[in-house]
Amino acid sequence: MNECKVIWRSVLSQLEVMISTISYDLWFKDLKPYTIEGDTLILVAPLNSFKKVSVQYADQIEAAIKASGSKITGIEIITEDEKDSFAVADASDEKSLTEEETVSVFNPDYTFDSFVVGDSNEIAFAAAKSVAEHPGSNHNPLFIYGGVGLGKTHIMHAIANYIFEHNKNARILYVTAEQFVNDYIDSIKNNKDNDLNRQFRMKYRSVDVLMMDDVQFLSGKTSTQEALFHTFNDLYQFRKQIILTSDRHPRELASLEDRLKSRFQSGLTVDITKPSIETRIAILQKKAYMKKYDISQKAIFFIAENITSNIRELEGALNKVVYFCSLSGRSTEDLDAVKEALKDDIDISTHVLSMDSITDAVCAYYGVKKADIVGKRKNKLISNARQMAIYLINDMIGVPLLTIGQFFGGRDHTTIMYARDKITDASKTDNLIKAQINDIRSMLEKK
Ligand code: ADP
Ligand code: MG
Repeated sequence: MNECKVIWRSVLSQLEVMISTISYDLWFKDLKPYTIEGDTLILVAPLNSFKKVSVQYADQIEAAIKASGSKITGIEIITEDEKDSFAVADASDEKSLTEEETVSVFNPDYTFDSFVVGDSNEIAFAAAKSVAEHPGSNHNPLFIYGGVGLGKTHIMHAIANYIFEHNKNARILYVTAEQFVNDYIDSIKNNKDNDLNRQFRMKYRSVDVLMMDDVQFLSGKTSTQEALFHTFNDLYQFRKQIILTSDRHPRELASLEDRLKSRFQSGLTVDITKPSIETRIAILQKKAYMKKYDISQKAIFFIAENITSNIRELEGALNKVVYFCSLSGRSTEDLDAVKEALKDDIDISTHVLSMDSITDAVCAYYGVKKADIVGKRKNKLISNARQMAIYLINDMIGVPLLTIGQFFGGRDHTTIMYARDKITDASKTDNLIKAQINDIRSMLEKK
């Protein structure tokens, strides 16, 4: 696949989270990568009016290019008739389109290395790894299911990248179920003679690995399901690996033929669930590192505490914060800036309990500085306040000890456990401590 497409795809995935869906659909979706001139990616637009996009969205485009880590530094938008004045970087580009039909291109960023493993996905990860190491033998098919934005597509591409790295001749086809449906419909439309489906068959049955993303899309599409059933049997019989993803367990796929449901479940079925706070922090740290973002630990904690729905949104929030702070010249240490950047994503009118807000309340209550309690100082008042904050964080929002330790300047979890247990014990016998706990709780609850 040609480089322009890979670059543009990764820039687009950054842009998608930086601008509104309406603007994205209107202005960016229809731009087609054409070639690279020096450091500039040349895009072809359907109309002249699209040219203003590069000015109007200059900041966002710049930030997206940076975030994607690609080698280009800018874009230029041209129209169809201006194409002639640009040389096509790779003369085989046009021809390779047909090849592209049978062998897919995978997102180079979606690898096993860049995938953070936690409770929510460790089984899926292990299964994927095993399939990648021994395609067609261990778990066939592999069926991965889970909610949107939790890493299904990432893990599928990771398998493909891994297989491809170890076997350059592997024919790996990745399609969304939607593409499969469209291909099937086209194959019927275009072939009116006995040749019916020949092309379609060639495409789907000549592969070593078939990956089909989001199979829930097949619901209710009876004749496509039939085609998939035969494709499946054919591949399976020749020990070709099949990998499927869906937003739900196969048995919950409505309007899917029973025989397909049972095929889908005949190998290994694994799920991916929502990540815990520790995994969310680890993911943010990894993404920030990969994108060379300069972002404070504080901002990372805040994002991880407040964006809990899925990883795509977590990543979007990270981009927004970095982008907002760099544009407005504010530091990511400044939580007000972070909150402002995320004002559309989290409800800041209702007070959120977080490690920060609880620590702030404790500091206000004892009259100590936050820098002191997250730092190394050891006087009695500060140690007491620190232990209280640790106890309340663990008790009120259930943050694991390891994560609390990170928040309190990298203390290890036994220190944190000691602090928590000390206050827990004291709260049973010491009336003063009991009263303090109640006071701070009510401060926090009133906000
Ligand atoms: P899905 O296909 O389940 O909707 P994606 O695979 O598209 O989700 O993931 C959404 C985004 O979240 C992608 O950018 C992906 O790289 C990222 N992501 C998901 N899970 C992880 C993980 N465990 N570690 C790192 N990044 C992840
Ligand atoms: Mg997906």
